[in-house]
Amino acid sequence: MSENINSVVKRLIDGERLTREDFITLIKDRNEKIAKKLARHAVKWRKKIYGKSVYIRGLIEISNICKNDCLYCGIRASNKSCDRYRLTPSEILESCKEGYSLGFRTFVLQGGEDAYFSDEVLISLIRDVKVACPDAAITLSLGERDRESYEALRLAGADRYLLRHESACREHYELLHPKSMSYEGRMRALRDLRELGYQVGCGFMVGSPYQTANELAEDLFFIQSFKPDMCGIGPFIPAENTPFASFEAGEVELTLYLLSIIRLIHPTVLLPATTALGSITEGGRERGILAGANVVMPNLSPASVRKKYAIYDGKLSDGSEAGEGLISLKKKMKKIGYEIVTDRGDVKSNL
Ligand code: SAM
Repeated sequence: MSENINSVVKRLIDGERLTREDFITLIKDRNEKIAKKLARHAVKWRKKIYGKSVYIRGLIEISNICKNDCLYCGIRASNKSCDRYRLTPSEILESCKEGYSLGFRTFVLQGGEDAYFSDEVLISLIRDVKVACPDAAITLSLGERDRESYEALRLAGADRYLLRHESACREHYELLHPKSMSYEGRMRALRDLRELGYQVGCGFMVGSPYQTANELAEDLFFIQSFKPDMCGIGPFIPAENTPFASFEAGEVELTLYLLSIIRLIHPTVLLPATTALGSITEGGRERGILAGANVVMPNLSPASVRKKYAIYDGKLSDGSEAGEGLISLKKKMKKIGYEIVTDRGDVKSNL
């Protein structure tokens, strides 16, 4: 018989390791009172470790050209209505410099798996960014590459890598991806990145098609063991012209609840209040911070391409979601008692 949720909550707050069944109980038997309690404890931990600081990452969406065909994603290869673009290395460098002058000390170069961005192109770009912005960190989020490539990019100066695991349950992973992509490949990439000394981020979409409490419990169990330096979770939002266009979006409340649980099972994690959370509901990012997140990722891509990186419908890319909207974002964070800082915002792992 499954344990009462209150005793699971107590063990979670006490920092005990939970089982898959515990996580299922936390998800299935949740209620508002428990969500509030977990958020309170999550915020206590994030304040103890990161204070009231909110780290900002300047997100530069370098290309929406992708060889993959993830069933959920608006920039999947077979979406013929996607208006494709690719930034040049000098445009990317300019975006970093602009972000640097605004106070950004981390740049996230994210994009589809676009063969143009060979090791050679990326190595030269990473070096140029490091010369122009010497005290800034570079995060890459360019999908799966071979170990040699990850190693070369790390040696060139890349500090962090974001690669969502998407689902820690093999069968579910396979329902979200084409046959050309594998669960093993994803897990291998995450292990390689860690061994090569990157700060590594995994993550998943909340409410993706076919996801139940069992799959979510598997994701939480994986995060509890893998202990990523960063973890990106946001609601699944349907994208037009994809096989999942008519599925329902993930729930905001469940996303917030999971953010709190992730902070509690792994207190030092760098946890963004994602663009997807901000896009799906008014004040989503602020609510993410109040649930235990400590990172936001405004968009620094050139304005001309922002709308084209349409991984899902209704994605925010202007206002305080944009790099130049930092003043308004600062005000919003201040209003809820937090402060945006000019800092690389590395993971605090010595606790
Ligand atoms: N190609 C890189 C990769 O695979 O990691 C980075 C780009 S990929 C578009 C970034 C993330 O967007 C994915 O890991 C996925 O979780 C998220 N994403 C894609 N489609 C989405 C959707 N419809 N709703 C919410 N998030 C989505």
